[in-house]
Amino acid sequence: MSRYDVIVIGGGPAGLAAAASARGHGAKDVLVIERAERLGGILNQCIHNGFGLITYGEELTGPEYAHRAELAAREAGVETLLDTMVLSVAKDRTVTCVGPEGLLALSAGAVVLAMGCRERPAGALAIPGFRPAGVYTAGCAQRLVNMDGLLPGREVVILGSGDIGLIMARRMTLEGAHVACVAELMPYSGGLKRNIVQCLDDFDIPLLLSHTVTRIEGRRRVEAVWLSEVGTGGRPVPGTEVRYPCDTLLLSVGLLPENELSREAGVRLSAVTRGPEVSQALETSIPGVFACGNVLHVHDLVDYVTQEAEVAGAAAADFAMAGGQRRGGHIVPVMPAGSVRYVVPQRLDLDALPEKVTFRFRVGAPIDSATLAVEASERTLLRRRRPIMVPGQMEQVTIRREDLLTVAGGITIRAEEEGR
Ligand SMILES: Cc1cc2nc3c(=O)[nH]c(=O)nc-3n(C[C@H](O)[C@H](O)[C@H](O)COP(=O)(O)OP(=O)(O)OC[C@H]3O[C@@H](n4cnc5c(N)ncnc54)[C@H](O)[C@@H]3O)c2cc1C
Repeated sequence: MSRYDVIVIGGGPAGLAAAASARGHGAKDVLVIERAERLGGILNQCIHNGFGLITYGEELTGPEYAHRAELAAREAGVETLLDTMVLSVAKDRTVTCVGPEGLLALSAGAVVLAMGCRERPAGALAIPGFRPAGVYTAGCAQRLVNMDGLLPGREVVILGSGDIGLIMARRMTLEGAHVACVAELMPYSGGLKRNIVQCLDDFDIPLLLSHTVTRIEGRRRVEAVWLSEVGTGGRPVPGTEVRYPCDTLLLSVGLLPENELSREAGVRLSAVTRGPEVSQALETSIPGVFACGNVLHVHDLVDYVTQEAEVAGAAAADFAMAGGQRRGGHIVPVMPAGSVRYVVPQRLDLDALPEKVTFRFRVGAPIDSATLAVEASERTLLRRRRPIMVPGQMEQVTIRREDLLTVAGGITIRAEEEGR
C-alpha cells in the first residue's frame, strides 16, 4: 500500500489550496485525488468573471482562478491522481479509490476532505405534475451551456434566487433564450446583491419574491409552469396562481455538502451546515481528518474557500509530520445566537490556538441595522455594526489568540437588530 503524508480528496479550489499549503508546511508527499479528468472543480464551468478579487486583487473567470490554483499546487510539488473516485476513508486514514489502474488502497498521515457540494434535485421539491423533459438544475444547465455548447431551452422560468440561479438567468439571456422570471420562495433573495444587480436588474428580468412553482404542465416536455404567491408558513396562497408558458424550468434551490464519504467514515456532521463539525484547525471528529471548502459549508466566494483550505492543509501537514500526535485538549464550544444560524468552526481547542482564528457564519433571515458581537461569559470580545446582514452572504470575523485564551466557557457569535 502506497503511503502519503497528506491525501486530499477533491481537486477543486479547496483541495488544490489545501494541498499546496500542506506542502508549504512541511508535508513531503501530498496527493490530490480527483474523480474528474481535470482539476479545478466547479470553477471549470463558471466562465463568468468575479472570482479572485480578494486573493489576487483581480477579477478572474472561474477557469482562470482554477488554473492559478492548479499552477500553485504543481509548483509546490503536489502529486495528482485524476479520473479517480474515492470510495471510502477509514478511521485509520486508509483511502480506497478506483481509477484507470483499478482499485487502490492508499495510506495517509492525514486526510483533507474537499469534495465540494451538489445541488438539491427536482425530486426534493415534490412539485405536482408529470416529469417532463426540460427540468434541469441550474448547475446542470450551466454545464450544458458553458462546457458542452448546448442550449437547454428557449423560454425559461427559474425557481430559486441563489447565486447559480441568478448567474444562469443572465447566461441563458446572453445565449438568446428568454427568461420570463426568477421565482423565490422566501421574501428575500438567497444570492449576493451584486448578482441580483448584474444578472437580473441589468437584463430586466423580474425577481418574484415569496413565489413558488405549484404545477408543471406538459407530458413529454415542459409546456408551462404555474407560479403562486406564498403566505405564512411557506404555503401557496389560493387564487394567486399564474401560468407562465415555457419549455424549460431551471432549479436553483440549494446546495448540499457532498458528504457521503464523510458520513460513512463516521465523521460527525452538523445538522445545520450538513458538513462536518470542526475545530479551529478544521479537524473533524476523526483525528487526522480535516475538511474545507463547500464540503464543510457552502461558500459564496471562492477567495474564502482558498483561505479556509490553507488552514486545513497546514493543520493536516502538522498532524502528519507529528506522527499523528494530537496536541492540546481543552475543548470549548462556539455557539450561534440571535439571528446567527451557524458558525464554523463549532469548537475551539484552547491548548492549540494559532495566532488568530477566523469564524465564518450566516444569519437565518435578513436583519437591518445589525449589531454583531462575539461574547465570552461576561466579556464582549468584539462588537460591530452592520447596515444589513442577509443569509445569502457569508460573514466572517477574526479574533486574536490572546483574546481567546481565557474563554473557558466557550464563545457565542450573536447578531441582532440594533436596540433589541
Ligand atoms: C454557479 C456558481 C457560481 C459561482 N460564482 C462565484 C463567483 O462569481 N465568485 C466567487 O468567488 N465564487 C463563486 N462561486 C463559488 C465558488 O466557485 C465555490 O465556492 C468553490 O468553487 C468551491 O470549491 P470546492 O473546492 O470546495 O468545491 P468544488 O469546486 O465543487 O470541487 C470539489 C471537487 O471534488 C471532487 N470530488 C467530489 N467527490 C469526490 C470523490 N469521492 N473522489 C474524488 N473527487 C471527488 C469533484 O469532482 C470536484 O472537482 C460560484 C459557485 C457556483 C456553483
